[in-house]
Amino acid sequence: MPLFAPPRKTRGMFRGVARELLEAIFENARNAHPNEFAALLRLGRTGLINQYVVLPGTISSNEAAVFMLHMKPADFSIIGTIHSHPSPYAVPSDADLDLFQRFGWVHIIVAYPYNMRTWKAYNGRGEEIRIEVVEKQKPGKERTSNPKF
Ligand SMILES: [Zn+2]
Repeated sequence: MPLFAPPRKTRGMFRGVARELLEAIFENARNAHPNEFAALLRLGRTGLINQYVVLPGTISSNEAAVFMLHMKPADFSIIGTIHSHPSPYAVPSDADLDLFQRFGWVHIIVAYPYNMRTWKAYNGRGEEIRIEVVEKQKPGKERTSNPKF
């Protein structure tokens, strides 16, 4: 069992990742290139991963992203990690697999050139998983309890 295993509840509400967040991550990865970009993933109340958290002390190099996990907030909405690979291969390294095992259950790797075709997701055992990319709901679809007209 990983040390930071979240309660079953959190895992049960998981629906996927927000496209907007992926786009923001691609942008960060491009900016960090040829170094790695690394952050933690946060699950929002709607069951979508919709936020990333950069840990203080996270070291980005072209070798590996080193997470300072002792700086991780005690927060069950944080369910995994994201980092970029400056190579075209979104395949976890040994260090990545080690990290995945220690913490979280959704880990995303974004490979160069950082777009929708070059990312992959893995579980804590380092097995590739398929996660849904969810578009933001159009504002018109949301109900309001206080219509203005
Ligand atoms: Zn890696």
